[in-house]
Amino acid sequence: MAHDHHDTTHLIHHPYQPPAGFESPQPGVFKASTVYFPNVAAMRQREWKDKSAYTYGLHGTPTSYLLEERLCALEGAQQCVLVPSGLAALATVALSLLKTGDEVLMPDNAYGPNKALAEGELRQYGITHQYYDPMNPADLAARISERTRLVWLEAPGSVTMEFPDLVEQVRICQAHSLTCALDNTWGAGLAFQPFDLLGDGQLGVDISAHALTKYPSGGGDVLMGSITTRDSALHLKIKLCHMRLGMGVGANDVEAVLRALPSIGLRYAAQDRTARALALWWQSQPQCAQLLHPAFAGAPGHAQWQALCGVHGASAGLFSVMIHARYTQEQVDAFCDDLKLFRLGYSWGGPVSLVMPYALSSMRSSWPAHLERGTLVRFSTGLESAEALLHDLAQSLNQNLPA
Ligand SMILES: *Cc1c(COP(=O)(O)O)cnc(C)c1O
Repeated sequence: MAHDHHDTTHLIHHPYQPPAGFESPQPGVFKASTVYFPNVAAMRQREWKDKSAYTYGLHGTPTSYLLEERLCALEGAQQCVLVPSGLAALATVALSLLKTGDEVLMPDNAYGPNKALAEGELRQYGITHQYYDPMNPADLAARISERTRLVWLEAPGSVTMEFPDLVEQVRICQAHSLTCALDNTWGAGLAFQPFDLLGDGQLGVDISAHALTKYPSGGGDVLMGSITTRDSALHLKIKLCHMRLGMGVGANDVEAVLRALPSIGLRYAAQDRTARALALWWQSQPQCAQLLHPAFAGAPGHAQWQALCGVHGASAGLFSVMIHARYTQEQVDAFCDDLKLFRLGYSWGGPVSLVMPYALSSMRSSWPAHLERGTLVRFSTGLESAEALLHDLAQSLNQNLPA
């Protein structure tokens, strides 16, 4: 029978099947909303909640399962859920575990948008929150009540980079049978093992939330997050909420993270090395009132970082400098604007070094006693050479913040 030129049925139902057994360094990318079932009985029997099969693109494809398993390997977890951003990971944890009347505790130096979620939607749902002092485990313990349902941990805190006593914080949560969730974006599964903090398999967090946007993506071009666990009941609770909320990730984004994951260790180490070279330089500049990098002696939480990550431990390529209070905000802004290689932008972990001034007084309950007064500037190192970056810092510093 001759084909009608407009009838493309034969293209839609084409019989060709490529030969099986293709192998190459990168896994194939499967994209789907619809997933076929062989027959009605198989459709009715199919399990939606685990990786035993496929049901609908939103609930997983070979591509997303693969990334989930590799992230479990990275963080020492058993189960993983992918979400469209790091913030979506934090929100999904909260929505999975909290109900009206519950309280969530978070460190005062927590990632800003996680605080905004507590002050916005969670408060609106009748879920209260308290901010605890990240540097004083006794303060965390004192804030726990019968309404406390979830404790957020962050090591180190966003922007101010104080490294807490994570082990003691987890012990406190366990003593009160409280679920503790770590924002593990900084550690990335490389600086320490979130589910095995002491290396003896005895102590770990319950949940690790990770902005894959940062190091796992490594490109500054992908937004994604993950929630990993080691407890199947806890995972199921999160997975069901995740399914009900319709949190899907795009296969091309998953592909980008899968492609970047093999080099995460090399990139993390390189960006760490560069950040330390820059931080060391800052330490000797008279404009620097305080260096906030957990691997440097004198920085808040240095001893806690050393205890958890090791004497020669790893650190993300991220640090802040408290610029001396004798300089005005305008001068500090001009310093940021006149940098050539450091670009002004949020996020980190990509190839381009970034700078961002922060107005700390609007971010914290009160000015922390362990922080000098001044204007805080955060730097994240990309993959440029340390020499080129130092040269860039020096030219703008000399021009805008004379000693
Ligand atoms: C970036 C970041 C997030 C959020 O990640 P997005 O993908 O940008 O939503 C969460 N926590 C920390 C500590 C981060 O640095």
